Amino acid sequence: MFVAIDDTDSQDRMCTTYLIYKIISENRYDVIGEPALVRLNPNIGYKTRGNGALNIELGRGKGKKTVIGKVSGGYLYSYDEIAEEPDRNELMDYISSIVDEFYVRDNDKTNPGIVISQNKFHEDLYSIALQEDISLQFMENYLNGRAMYRKFKTGHGIIGSAASLAWPGLRYTYELLDYRYPHYTSIEHDEKMEISKVPEKYNSTFNNIDLQNKYPAIFPTPKTPVILGIRGVARNDLMDIYEEIKNYHNIDDEGYIIYKTNQGTDDHIIHEPDYLSDMGSYAITGVISGQPYTIEGGHSFATLNYKNRDIKLAAFEPTKEFRKILLALVPGDIVTAYGSYMSGTVKLEKLRIIKKAPFYEKENPVCPVCNIKTKSKGAMDFRCPSCHRRYKNPVYIEINRQINEGFYEVPVIARRHLSMPVKLSDYFYGSGNHSGAI
Ligand code: ATP
Repeated sequence: MFVAIDDTDSQDRMCTTYLIYKIISENRYDVIGEPALVRLNPNIGYKTRGNGALNIELGRGKGKKTVIGKVSGGYLYSYDEIAEEPDRNELMDYISSIVDEFYVRDNDKTNPGIVISQNKFHEDLYSIALQEDISLQFMENYLNGRAMYRKFKTGHGIIGSAASLAWPGLRYTYELLDYRYPHYTSIEHDEKMEISKVPEKYNSTFNNIDLQNKYPAIFPTPKTPVILGIRGVARNDLMDIYEEIKNYHNIDDEGYIIYKTNQGTDDHIIHEPDYLSDMGSYAITGVISGQPYTIEGGHSFATLNYKNRDIKLAAFEPTKEFRKILLALVPGDIVTAYGSYMSGTVKLEKLRIIKKAPFYEKENPVCPVCNIKTKSKGAMDFRCPSCHRRYKNPVYIEINRQINEGFYEVPVIARRHLSMPVKLSDYFYGSGNHSGAI
C-alpha cells in the first residue's frame, strides 16, 4: 500500500521527511522499494520551503533487501517485493497518529494531508502538479473512488501527497537526510563549510557547497529535524560520505534515510512550447533583442525574442555572480533560457549560449595619409590631428567577447531543488545515457 504525506511543517519547524523517518524506524510495517521525496511546482505560493511531498510503500515484504537508512547505528532495510498488503484503515490510523503527533499546529499555512492507495496514479497528474496550481476540489474529485485520504485542518496537503504518487520515477537522483529531534544540533558556520567539502570529493554528488558565496548547502538554514542532506546519483557514495562526516566531525544524530527523488532532474521544464502559462517552467530558445540592464536592488534583465514575442529574462539579486553572464549578452546572441514564467518574465535558473553574435565597437577612423587616428569633432566629423583632413564615417572593430558558448547556471546558493545542475547534464543526456541514479 502506498502512503503519501505532505504539508506538516512550517518555515521554522519540523520537516515532513522526519515523519517518514519515524514511520520507518518504528518498524510496524516493512518498507517496499525506496521512500520517495518528490518536488512539485516550485512557483506555488503555499509552499513552506521547497514544495516537497513524500511517499513510501508499506506492508509485509519479501525478496531482496536493500539498506535505506540507519537508526541508532543499526541499518534500516526495504524489500523489493510485497508479500501481503496491510489493512488500509489500520494503516491510515497509524499514519494519522504520526502526523497528529508531529505537525505544526499553530500555523495557518500548515494543512496536512495523507493519501493511501494500492496503486500509483497516472503520470499526467504529476505533470500538472509541476506546472499548475491545482485546487483542493480538483484533487478531492480525483481521489474519490480511487484512494483513501485524510485531511487535517483544510487538508491542502492531499494535493502534494497525491501528486507525489503520480511521479513515475524514471529519472531520479538520491538524497540522504540525517536527523536529530527535538534537540537540534548546532554547528558553527566555519565547521559547516568544512563538512560541506567532504561530499565534493565524490563526483557523483551535487549542490554541496557554494564557496564563492560561503554557503554550506548540505545544511538547511532553518532549525528542522534535518541536520544535513547530501545529494547525489550513487547511493553507496552517499552512505560512505555519511560515515566519514559522522565519524570525523562528531555528528550527534538519530539516524538517516536515503530518498529516491526527482531533485536535479529538470522534470519541471517544458521545452519550447507555443504558449507560456503563468507558473509554468520552460526552456525557450530565441534571440537576445535588447541590451541587458540592471535596476536598483541589483536585479538584472535582458529581452529574448521567442517565437516572435518579447520575453523578459530576469536574474534577480540572489543569483549573485550569474547576473554577470546575463549582462554579458548582446543583441543577436542565440540562447536557451531555463526558468519559471510569470507575467511575461522568465526567472532564470540556467542559460545556454548557443551562438554568440559578433560584437563590434565603434572607433574613430585612422587617417590613411598620416597613419594617425583621427579625433572626433562631433557627429560624422573626424579630423586628422596632423593634416586636418576630414572623414565622415567611423570604423567598426569586432571585439573578442569574454563569454563563451555553453551552459551557465545560477550558483548553488540560488539553485532550485528541481533544476538539473549542469554537471548532471552529461549524466542524464550524455554518452552513458542513464535514465536515473546508480
Ligand atoms: P518542505 O519542503 O519543508 O516539506 P514545502 O515547501 O513542501 O515544505 P508544504 O508545507 O508541503 O511546503 O506546502 C506545500 C503545499 O502546496 C501543500 O499543501 C501541497 O499540497 C501544495 N501543493 C503542491 N503542489 C501543488 C500544486 N501544483 N498545486 C496546488 N497545490 C500544491
